[in-house]
Amino acid sequence: MHEASVVEELVRLLRTKAEELHATSVRRVTLVVGELTGYMEESLGFYYEILSRDTLLAGSELVVTYVKPKLHCESCDALFERSLYSFDCPTCGRPGSMTKIGSEFYIESMEAELPDDEPKPA
Ligand SMILES: [Zn+2]
Repeated sequence: MHEASVVEELVRLLRTKAEELHATSVRRVTLVVGELTGYMEESLGFYYEILSRDTLLAGSELVVTYVKPKLHCESCDALFERSLYSFDCPTCGRPGSMTKIGSEFYIESMEAELPDDEPKPA
C-alpha cells in the first residue's frame, strides 16, 4: 500500500499551504498522476479521506487527473503513446524510448475558502 505514504506527504504539503493562505476550509484538490506510478485513484481517495480527517482538508474533494505514458522517437522526434504490443513509432516505425511523461505526481491546484474573499484557486 504505497499510496498511504504518498498521501501522507500530500496532506502535509496541502495543510501547510492552506495554513499559509489562512484558508478556512479546502474545497477541492486536483492531482496529476502518471499511470506509471501505479497509484490507484480509489486508494488515493481512501487514504486522503482518512488522513485529512480533523484537518482543514476534511471534506474536500480529491480529483485525480491521470497522464498516459509517452515514448519518444529519436529518429523523427515524435512523442507517442505506447500501444499494447509495440514500442514502435507510429510515424516512422523505429523503436521509441521511455520518457518521464507518465511518471508525474504533483498537486495541480487547491481551491480553498479564504476568510475575506471569494474562493480562489491557489
Ligand atoms: Zn519516429
